[in-house]
This record gives sequence, C-alpha cells and structure tokens, in this order.
Amino acid sequence: MLYDSIIIGTGPAGVSAALNLKILGKNFLWLGSGSGSKKVEAAELIRNYPGLPNISGTELAAAFKAHAEGMGIAPQSGVVTAIYDLSGRYAVQAGTETYESKTIILCTGVAAAKPIAGEENFLGRGVSYCATCDGFLYRGKTIAVLLFDKSFEHEAEYLATLAQKVYLMPMYKNCEVQAKNVEIMLKMPREIAGGMKAERLIFSDGELAVDGIFILRSSISPATLLRGLKTEGGHIAVDRQCRTNLAGVFAAGDCTGRPYQYVKAAGEGNVAAHAAVDYLAENK
Ligand SMILES: Cc1cc2nc3c(=O)[nH]c(=O)nc-3n(C[C@H](O)[C@H](O)[C@H](O)COP(=O)(O)OP(=O)(O)OC[C@H]3O[C@@H](n4cnc5c(N)ncnc54)[C@H](O)[C@@H]3O)c2cc1C
Repeated sequence: MLYDSIIIGTGPAGVSAALNLKILGKNFLWLGSGSGSKKVEAAELIRNYPGLPNISGTELAAAFKAHAEGMGIAPQSGVVTAIYDLSGRYAVQAGTETYESKTIILCTGVAAAKPIAGEENFLGRGVSYCATCDGFLYRGKTIAVLLFDKSFEHEAEYLATLAQKVYLMPMYKNCEVQAKNVEIMLKMPREIAGGMKAERLIFSDGELAVDGIFILRSSISPATLLRGLKTEGGHIAVDRQCRTNLAGVFAAGDCTGRPYQYVKAAGEGNVAAHAAVDYLAENK
C-alpha cells in the first residue's frame, strides 16, 4: 500500500500531525512508541500548556491518547531505522517491515545521544540499528551490542541466540540480559574503526575486535535516518511550513530546534500536516 503520509514519532508533534491528517481525510500510518512519549509522561507539572493549567505529564499523555483514540487513530509500535528516497515516494523501514509513502512527517524529538565516532560511516557495513533485520548475518559470529534502553533487552537476547559471542554494553543500570555467551562490559566505546567494514571498537583503555556491532537506541539522528536531509546544529532545517530540503519530507517538534516545548511541538505538528496535504494536492 502507498500511504499519503507516514508520521514518525508519538510525542505532541506526532499526535498533532496525526489528528490533523485524520481531520483532513488522509490515508496515513503513524509509527512510534505505542505508549506515547516518555518526555510527556516525565513532566511533574506543566504550567505552560494553554487551556490545561497545572496538568501533570501523565494526565497530558492520557489526554493525548484519549483524543487520538476518540478519533479512531492509534500509533503502530515500531522504531524506524531507515528511510529511503525512491524519487517521488519514500520507503520507511521499521523492524522487518517496509512501508511506502508519498510524504513523511518527522516528529522524532531531539536525539539524546550523539552518534559514536565512525557509527554513521559504517552503518550498513558492520553497524546495524536493527536486530530483527540484520541478526541473521551474524550467526556464529562475535558481535558487540550497545544497549541504550531496557526496552531493547529482548533484541539483545535474540541476538545471543544467533551469535557465538556477544559483548553487551548496557548504558543503564540493572541490565537483565542473561545468556552463557553474553559478556557484559560496563564501558562505552569512543570510536568504531575498520577498513571496508566495521572491525573493532576503540575504548580509552584498549580495543575489541568484532564481526558486527548493533546499536540499539530509540533515537537515531535524523541525518542518519534519511540520507540527504539537511540539518543545522543537530536539528532538522525547516522553513515556516515545516518543509525540509527534501520534497515531501516535513519535520515538527523538538527535532526542528529550540525551544523544546509541548505547545511548539503540537503547533508544528499541525503546520507540517497542513503542508503535507498541500504538497499532496500539488503533486497528484
Ligand atoms: C522532565 C521533562 C519536563 C518537561 N516539562 C515541560 C513543560 O513543563 N512544558 C513544556 O512545554 N515542555 C516540557 N518539556 C519538553 C517537552 O517534553 C518536549 O518539548 C516535547 O515532548 C517535544 O515533543 P516532540 O513531539 O517533538 O518529541 P518527543 O515528545 O520527544 O517525542 C518523540 C517521539 O518520537 C519517538 N521516536 C524517535 N525516534 C524514532 C524512530 N526512529 N522511530 C520511531 N519513533 C521514534 C520517540 O520514542 C518519542 O516517542 C519537558 C521535558 C522533560 C524531559
């Protein structure tokens, strides 16, 4: 199926884009976390969302969910690991699935972690963001898994069923992955190095040779997700219609720059949805 639009991200920007595309009658797919945004839930007290004084983050998250459900829309769970420009349409990869769309609305929030040196260079050449897509390539091999979030532990466990040896580097406390071929290392590599493909991780106190490296985190830098996307200072460059430099690609919310605020994200989600609809009308 070719969608009119694919929205990526389930924070306020994504919610707003989805509500508006629904109202405007478009055929769209909404991808992200099924449980909204951690950055909404985390707020103790929100004092600057118009019309909802002193609402808590969990209340706002519940209101977003109820609003979307009331309009018959719900996000589909999935972390997008790549978007490909197919000249006139885009292919979006989430897990083992690929979806196609005429437009894309990026609402991915601000990437918390900076890419590791060498990460973007070796992506697809020994570096992967997706265990289910690429795990089979490392059957019987030695791999490193950099785990940034507990929610990816099942992916690390899956990789341990395929690889001969897994060096697991959790970037949080209380990692619960256990398997006899898994060795936990409590350190962060400073660089990925190699020749034609990634071959080793470099630490401040030495190196580790591996056949492949899985980086499992929920935020991937926008320019890595979609090659050719223009960024400025780590944010996606957009104009006042939330249009990026790529035809049919729009961006909204924290990913486009400061201030990092709910209402700015929701406002831009609205603008991006309208701009996507204008684009669809102009490019029938
Ligand atoms: C503790 C805390 C308190 C805050 N308090 C306030 C406040 O009082 N007032 C205020 O205005 N703002 C506040 N903020 C800021 C506010 O949370 C953000 O500005 C807002 O959430 C941005 O919305 P967004 O939709 O752009 O991105 P986010 O809310 O960050 O949502 C982005 C979503 O995209 C998903 N995503 C990212 N990459 C991918 C991918 N590759 N595939 C699939 N999904 C992906 C993420 O998992 C996330 O669910 C607070 C933030 C924090 C952390």
